[in-house]
Amino acid sequence: MLTFKEDQDFKALRGHILNPLSDTSCQCFPDGIIVARRKSGVWLVEALGDASSIAENYQLDLDDVPVNSGVVLPPFYDIHFHWVQDDVREMPKESLLEWLERYTFPEEARFADPDYSEVKAKHFWSRILATGTLGGLCYSSIHSVALDAAMKYAPSGFRIGGSLMTMNCPGFLRQTVDEAVGAASYGAKTYGDRYCITPRFAPTTHPEVMTAAAKLAENSGLFQQTHLDETIAEIEWVLGIYSEIDGFDDIQNYTEIYERCGVLGPRTVMGHAIHLEPEELELLAKTDTALASCPTSNAPPEDFGLGSGLFNFEQVESHGIRWALASDIGGGPFLSMFDVIESFVQQNRQIGRSSATYTKALYRSTLAGAEILEYGEAKGNFAIGKEFDCIQCQSPEGMRIPSNAEESIAQLIGQVRTRSDYDALVSSAVLNGEVIFERAPLKA
Ligand SMILES: [Zn+2]
Repeated sequence: MLTFKEDQDFKALRGHILNPLSDTSCQCFPDGIIVARRKSGVWLVEALGDASSIAENYQLDLDDVPVNSGVVLPPFYDIHFHWVQDDVREMPKESLLEWLERYTFPEEARFADPDYSEVKAKHFWSRILATGTLGGLCYSSIHSVALDAAMKYAPSGFRIGGSLMTMNCPGFLRQTVDEAVGAASYGAKTYGDRYCITPRFAPTTHPEVMTAAAKLAENSGLFQQTHLDETIAEIEWVLGIYSEIDGFDDIQNYTEIYERCGVLGPRTVMGHAIHLEPEELELLAKTDTALASCPTSNAPPEDFGLGSGLFNFEQVESHGIRWALASDIGGGPFLSMFDVIESFVQQNRQIGRSSATYTKALYRSTLAGAEILEYGEAKGNFAIGKEFDCIQCQSPEGMRIPSNAEESIAQLIGQVRTRSDYDALVSSAVLNGEVIFERAPLKA
């Protein structure tokens, strides 16, 4: 539970505060204060620092400013997940294409029903907010009722797109070319830039649909998202399909298909991008396309992932390509970005990538995602002038929290016994200065 020192347009939040700045830097204030002030209805961060210096500057009596327990962080941004796959997160996963066919497509088909979509959306968004994810980039199903339901319950920090699917998928989840283009126009017209153009991936979406939707994205300033190079079997399948499509028979790799349809660019987020050829890395860099890495979804099946491989962040960074972490619900088994952070750190450390720190993972789960989604000027950390959003995470009662960021995050994560418990690590969430979620205190 969070308590503030506050009056009408002023709030001071005191506690152990972490403020991610970059891959290698995260401010840590073991006894810190965030000062926020309301201006024209928006709560903005006005100051951040050690409690003693803030108290002096603002002439506050520290005895009068309540100390909050646990750790205060900026909220998470999850830049690749499918809200309509919440019920297949823990289904058996042998391979991507089989899991889609057997569990995921039949589940997504249920969202044609407006009542089902409404009930599921209400439940899903209350759960994801309770894990501390207050923004991101999300896939819906092909149905406009599912998009409407998601837009109704998701806060404005989420951009959402209805999947466009016109070929190589079951009839019950297939649009005609005209229906897909119409669905994209509906989304853009109804939701403006909160709508994201979302061809599911090249094998299921006709190139003429991707091309028309990409034009709409360009003309309306929308984001685009799709999947790229997740598994070897998928790549072979895609290249086989496009080798027989006019105008694509000479393409050299998967990324080129998207380039030819106008999908690449600075407002595009490609999911996974694990098995990239050197030419693909160059193309992504040249077009300033961003990537979403989903380590829990890509993890081996024994860890409840699809066994797709490990994203090579060092290679991607050496090309100057922007990227952030994501859960890929339901390829990823759990909603919490803490689970994603731990998976990223452990999988990379196992193969000797020592720069895979908790500091880096926190940055890639907060500010990096907000920046890719063009919310970075207003959100993503506690920089002065940004909107006052935060989460409070529980820490063991009476335990001293380490006084540096890396160890603070490690301790938060280390207290959790099973992976599903990460979902409950967040005890409060604040959006634009208002508490939007509070977990009931645990009974002793
Ligand atoms: Zn996905």
